[in-house]
Amino acid sequence: MTDVLEARRVRVLVLGGGYAGVLATVRMAKRLAGRAEVTLVNDRPDFVQRIRLHQLAVGQRVAAPSLDHLLRKTGATLLVGRATEIDPGDRTVSVATAEGQLSVSYDYLVYALGSGSGAPPIAGIAEHAHHVATEEGARRLASRLGQCREGDHVTVVGAGLTGVELSTEIAEARPDLRVTLLTSGSLGSDLSAAGAAALARAMTALSVTVREHTALASAARTSIRTADGEELDSHVTAWCGGFFPNALARSSGLPTLADGRLALDGHLRSIGAPEIFGAGDGVGLAADEARYVRMGCVTALPLGAAAADNVIATIEGAALEPFGFGFFARCISLGRRRGLIQRVSSDDQPMESVITGRLGAKIKEGVCRFTLAALAMERLFPGTYSWPKRHIPILPGSTSSELAANIG
Ligand SMILES: Cc1cc2nc3c(=O)[nH]c(=O)nc-3n(C[C@H](O)[C@H](O)[C@H](O)COP(=O)(O)OP(=O)(O)OC[C@H]3O[C@@H](n4cnc5c(N)ncnc54)[C@H](O)[C@@H]3O)c2cc1C
Repeated sequence: MTDVLEARRVRVLVLGGGYAGVLATVRMAKRLAGRAEVTLVNDRPDFVQRIRLHQLAVGQRVAAPSLDHLLRKTGATLLVGRATEIDPGDRTVSVATAEGQLSVSYDYLVYALGSGSGAPPIAGIAEHAHHVATEEGARRLASRLGQCREGDHVTVVGAGLTGVELSTEIAEARPDLRVTLLTSGSLGSDLSAAGAAALARAMTALSVTVREHTALASAARTSIRTADGEELDSHVTAWCGGFFPNALARSSGLPTLADGRLALDGHLRSIGAPEIFGAGDGVGLAADEARYVRMGCVTALPLGAAAADNVIATIEGAALEPFGFGFFARCISLGRRRGLIQRVSSDDQPMESVITGRLGAKIKEGVCRFTLAALAMERLFPGTYSWPKRHIPILPGSTSSELAANIG
């Protein structure tokens, strides 16, 4: 009789096949080959390039590679289904699949469910406003824009990065429409003086009307009302006031930040459940000094890689690395022919250095292509993806117990 019993392989479950989840999966699968089963759960079989959804909204073709393709030859398994509950006590996740409800066990979990749309408490938004936070939302907007006639009014609400990218994309693709960008603040307030001036020039060149210091009070089918009572024609209204983190962490009773993101310590572990790691839009470091690590593809990829490294370190009994990251630039598309690259400090403050125009557009396109290329490279050469300032920890030495007071 052989006295060598085969040890059970460690089960690593990744929830969410976006930028963070796919990168984490491919980074772990080959490096843990033979020691762990890595499974990716995603509610659709393909990868959504969310950073291009404003392009989809104006009818451009955006590639959506299958997740099977992105994971091929890594040894990772794809489970297509919707995670409906996490039970950290039993270490199981309930997953609704086409074949029925499954209970999937894990030893380590990576929570990477991202963010999506949600209606703010403004009358008529849920019923009448479009959004580009999800692929379905972008496709609905594309279909609605397709029905618009010359001279129809389109209002984009919110002048953050998404509102700026969407309004300029629509204005460039549909010069026959009258596009207004509505903001309760001022345009380019989070850019340098040079960046704000370049943005204003692009809005003028594309004939986008910018209404600053104007808050939206309500939306109806073909009009909107501002907070000062003005009624404006709006045949299509798109809400770009921010993304909402996935609600599963909160509904499963895991500790979250006030906005519902899974609360993590400096090693990207859930506070209270150290076998759960997190990455991407659905998570946040539970300390005030980490606030600048905002939602974004630019943070989702580093978080996904760092979470994967710490899962591997935990399995190997090695020391975990605190998450380190610093920003370097904001890359903004202004249609296909113009772009704005705003240099920023490590904590995302604008500096007086910008690249604009066609060169800006080329750099931005290169950055978008890089995101898919990074996933492909990581699949072939796991562990190679790296990011700026990873060796400067954001919360050096932070532990779950030190951070517990910051949970909302
Ligand atoms: C129009 C637009 C432009 C943008 N431009 C930029 C930009 O220029 N730069 C930048 O940094 N960021 C940009 N972003 C933000 C960026 O897209 C997000 O920050 C990024 O997608 C977050 O990645 P993620 O992996 O955390 O989550 P996601 O990409 O949201 O992926 C989450 C995945 O989880 C799946 N999922 C959700 N719930 C479940 C469930 N219950 N069960 C199973 N699967 C589930 C989803 O289907 C999805 O596949 C942009 C976003 C939009 C919409």
